[in-house]
Amino acid sequence: MQESEKLGTGAHTRAFAAGACFYGKEKESMNTKIIKLASCGCAGDEALLEAAQILRCGGLVAFPTETVYGLGANALDEDAAKKIYAAKGRPSDNPLIAHISRMDELPVLAAEIPEAAGRLARRFWPGPLTMIFKKQSRVPDGTTGGLDTVAVRMPSDPVANRLIQLAGVPVAAPSANTSGRPSPTRAEHVVEDMDGKIELILDGGEVGIGVESTIVDVSGEVPMLLRPGAVTLEMLRETLGRVDVDPAIEGPLAEGVRPKAPGMKYRHYAPRAEMLLVEGEAERVAAYINHEAKKAKEAGRRVGIICTEESRRLYPEGILEVIGSRSHEETVAHNLFAVLRELDEKAVDCIFSESFSEDRLGQAIMNRLCKAAGYHIVQV
Ligand code: AMP
Ligand code: MG
Repeated sequence: MQESEKLGTGAHTRAFAAGACFYGKEKESMNTKIIKLASCGCAGDEALLEAAQILRCGGLVAFPTETVYGLGANALDEDAAKKIYAAKGRPSDNPLIAHISRMDELPVLAAEIPEAAGRLARRFWPGPLTMIFKKQSRVPDGTTGGLDTVAVRMPSDPVANRLIQLAGVPVAAPSANTSGRPSPTRAEHVVEDMDGKIELILDGGEVGIGVESTIVDVSGEVPMLLRPGAVTLEMLRETLGRVDVDPAIEGPLAEGVRPKAPGMKYRHYAPRAEMLLVEGEAERVAAYINHEAKKAKEAGRRVGIICTEESRRLYPEGILEVIGSRSHEETVAHNLFAVLRELDEKAVDCIFSESFSEDRLGQAIMNRLCKAAGYHIVQV
């Protein structure tokens, strides 16, 4: 395909089309460049131009979005998409989300744009919502894991949005972590997992939301929630009326059942330690965790405890991680993955975590915690 036939034929695209490509060559290991962006988030365009050039040439760039850090590649370039799988160690049947910066880029990827999608886009784009569409044939199997649908999101983060615009191509960007590990919410997390494996990391500081985008399949009769996120089920139903929920969200799948979002079947977000999620009334939860933590310590194990601002005084022992405040659940989402990584860092052997109600943002929080715990949950 000619460069000019690809998505975006603006001045930037043409400017880059003439540039030589030094990136995207197969290499065992490479020097990963890290660029710290200005705190205004608007970075001198110089860094973003360099990043856009790498993307256009088939290389990999990690960048901040409002959800988590993404690992970007040209979504229309099968070889570039393959490099994402290699860098992450991601199973090749787990498709990627393609990111766009403007509404007129959507028809390049989506073969049909149902009315429900238009309504969701008007309310939630740019923002933390991914929609699944029937795909255009130009979207390679390497991006969609062989599916005839494509996942698309328009991020609101100014760095992400500008980068995609400058790249002039849709940008496939899964979370920039090693597959299975907690998603990165700070550039340091990306460095931990991706140093030496990708060309560039744009350091934009901490992300805002902290959990990955909501995914809704709008390619069928009834819209279906495939992954909960900051755009909540309640918000989707307010906009669309009926929205079904993929059973994969609510619990571990029975043997042989395939989730609609292929990625949901893999162990995810997992800290290295084994983790137990404890559900029940606050004082009882604390009593149970304290009792179990004491036993574990006596058996010579290092114990991590995930609690909240409200409950921290209930835990006299163990390595405490305060995940946020129950009265501001956004703080819990914001800190969730960083806390899991922190406990890895502290080399704990086991983790006991409090749990959360499953309404609104709580559904996304519990989905990530349940997966991190491998659905190891106890009611007290
Ligand atoms: P990540 O990029 O790591 O946030 O994961 C992307 C998620 O989107 C995975 O759970 C994928 O299975 C899901 N996904 C991507 N493309 C599709 C698609 N065409 N249909 C259903 N789910 C998808
Ligand atoms: Mg991910």
